[in-house]
Amino acid sequence: MHSAVGVIHTKRDGGRLTDDQIDWIIDAYTHDAVAEEQMAALAMAICCNGMDAAETARWTKAMIDSGERLDLGSVARPTVDKHSTGGVGDKITLPLAPLVAACGAAVPQLSGRGLGHTGGTLDKLESIPGWRAQLSNEDIVRQLNEVGAVICAPTPTLAPADRKLYALRDVTGTVESIPLIASSIMSKKIAEGAGGLVLDVKVGSGAFMKTFDQARELASALVGIGGQHGVAVSALLTDMSTPLGRAVGNALEVAESVDVLRGGGPTDIVDLTVVLAREMLALAGLPDTDPAAVLASGAAYETWCRMIKAQSGDPEASLPVAGSVHVIESPTDGILTRLDAYPVGIAAWRLGAGRARKEDPIDHAAGVLCLAHQGEQVTKGQPLFELHTNNPDALPAALEVLAESWEIGEVAPESTDLVLDVLRSPR
Ligand code: URA
Repeated sequence: MHSAVGVIHTKRDGGRLTDDQIDWIIDAYTHDAVAEEQMAALAMAICCNGMDAAETARWTKAMIDSGERLDLGSVARPTVDKHSTGGVGDKITLPLAPLVAACGAAVPQLSGRGLGHTGGTLDKLESIPGWRAQLSNEDIVRQLNEVGAVICAPTPTLAPADRKLYALRDVTGTVESIPLIASSIMSKKIAEGAGGLVLDVKVGSGAFMKTFDQARELASALVGIGGQHGVAVSALLTDMSTPLGRAVGNALEVAESVDVLRGGGPTDIVDLTVVLAREMLALAGLPDTDPAAVLASGAAYETWCRMIKAQSGDPEASLPVAGSVHVIESPTDGILTRLDAYPVGIAAWRLGAGRARKEDPIDHAAGVLCLAHQGEQVTKGQPLFELHTNNPDALPAALEVLAESWEIGEVAPESTDLVLDVLRSPR
């Protein structure tokens, strides 16, 4: 016979949770038989004392078993998904999902909304007139067979324990725990049913994991859980010290993604999209398909249009445009020696691109366009940033934080590799 207090004591005192304790507490919490304050105490004990690999794998299994797994058995193509741990200007899912579908795999992308300074894929897509995020399991499977890619909200039956626990962690200072983050991500992704998973683990100021060592530890936990659940996982550690691409903010990021799908767009976005697509295709058993060639052919853009239309969106419709655009010009000639992701993310959020609480509305047109990349030569008077908003009152606070993000000097910073490391589960 278990009790919540007994489980809390075990972890508080630095012990290991047994499989039975984990299964019991996750099930009881899902069914409201364990109080929020008890789960908060346990989450804090886990934050402080950790969980080993076996505990984390069991915790993940219990969260998967709290709901239903999506059955992708009737999808004719090999299934593979990608998950990013979140960053500033990280819109890679938008060009990536249709690209991998155009290469022959099926991509079931159950995505989230943004909270804090990182954006959410669903918020970005909701700037497209008519587009809807909620699909049934049947809609998802049909769209995977007909189009090859779907980006939508998780269905309510998918890992419900994680949904409750994530909301609780968010307000109890218990997000930053590697076993809790890893089990949260993997429970949703494994329940989603894809055969392979590529993880983009972001490192740097704009990411959850600020240092390479932390990110590697998270990547290793994620890959370990995948291995234990029979899902082939690759984790790429990629730089998030400076914003990805030029656009930060929902409609601005959709427009940039469409540029990429039409053969243009910033090089870092194109390169990361192609690198991740290659890894996904390898997991899907399609290693000989060249995603760069498919992107250049326009096939990924066609798939994008079909994917948006299948969810009632109009891919040709104009995106929301902000009523006010403020430009910051370079005060001098020189090199943009630093462009720090975190303050840019906060500035976009203050302009209305993000929300402070889950219920808050979003200004889809709001955000920051970074017109110069870190390391670029700039000249006096050249526009460096555009701040887009429908709430001009938000401008002073956004300008204040944005001022911390950049510096102009004479010596170009060392360029960082796009991919800092790769971890793969045994195949
Ligand atoms: N993303 C998730 O899904 N869960 C976490 O705990 C952190 C990031």
